[in-house]
Amino acid sequence: MSLSTFEEIGQILREHKRFAILGHVRPDGDALGSQLALALSLQALGKEVRVWNEDGMLEKYSFLPCAQLLTKPPSTPEDFDVAVALDTAIQNRLGTALPAVRSAKIWINIDHHLSNPGYGNVVCIDTSAPATAEIIFHLIKSQGLPFNRDIAENLYAAISTDTGSFQYPKTSARTFEIAAELIRTGLDVGRLSQQLYENYPRRRLELLRELLRNMRFQQEDHVASFSLSLKAAAELGVIPEDNEGLIDHLRAVRGVIVAVFFEELSDGKVRVSMRSKTEAVDVCAICQKFGGGGHTLAAGARVKGTLSEVEERVLAEVCEKLKSLSPLQC
Ligand code: 5GP
Ligand code: MN
Repeated sequence: MSLSTFEEIGQILREHKRFAILGHVRPDGDALGSQLALALSLQALGKEVRVWNEDGMLEKYSFLPCAQLLTKPPSTPEDFDVAVALDTAIQNRLGTALPAVRSAKIWINIDHHLSNPGYGNVVCIDTSAPATAEIIFHLIKSQGLPFNRDIAENLYAAISTDTGSFQYPKTSARTFEIAAELIRTGLDVGRLSQQLYENYPRRRLELLRELLRNMRFQQEDHVASFSLSLKAAAELGVIPEDNEGLIDHLRAVRGVIVAVFFEELSDGKVRVSMRSKTEAVDVCAICQKFGGGGHTLAAGARVKGTLSEVEERVLAEVCEKLKSLSPLQC
């Protein structure tokens, strides 16, 4: 895979007119914020942009500046000069946004996932970046593309959420320098943080109660997991976006090395979400065994089977990996 430079990408962005800006299914703050930030910059450059995500804009991120730009893809496909996939490890994770692009002369793939195989004509993958939004920031700044407070707020929300509020290991001096530059546009950190972290619906806490009720620990408490069945989700009236971040409660426990969250889906699959606290346990590699991917310390997969079957298979794999560690690595 050969990586493209910001200059090459900048030239493509300047030279073309019609853009589709896409992100992964079940989007997180990084996908949505990166999509909106790049779209706003291109719009300010006079470009025509469509900003699509299979799930549309999530309720909890609808405060993001110009959130209304981001919609579900239309059922009738459209033609583009350039399609840009952001924060999307494999092209299939674009979901229904993929077939909504009937044609694109150029596919650009901008991402920070380790498992990204480098699909598309123009590839920009930086696995050292803690968020795709960091790459978008560098692209915008290095190419002198339009930049303003609305773009900054979207990038800040994306970086803040994908770094676990500037805590995860890939958070670097560069990340804080970018944050400082974003804040200098006049954005209100306190207000933005409240919108991001202190505005959850009550049902999210009720979901957490259900998850904590069924949590279990294995392997000398090094492995912690909890599950959400379709039945419980229906009873609680929760929607998919409610569970983003709840796995962090498991990771936060002393001694826990791997945290796993299982969510039963309506298509006969189970969504597996996995976190590790040490490079010695690469959860991306574990999830790849089940057809998924992600990062070394945060990964996921969608696995066919019932909730209990998938729990058993996945936890067996995790425990096997932990058994192979030396006591020092635990
Ligand atoms: P989360 O657990 O927050 O859903 O995802 C953690 C990381 O793993 C994210 O970076 C996400 O893109 C990746 N990931 C989650 N589910 C899948 C999946 O089914 N396939 C792949 N390839 N990556 C996934
Ligand atoms: Mn990301």
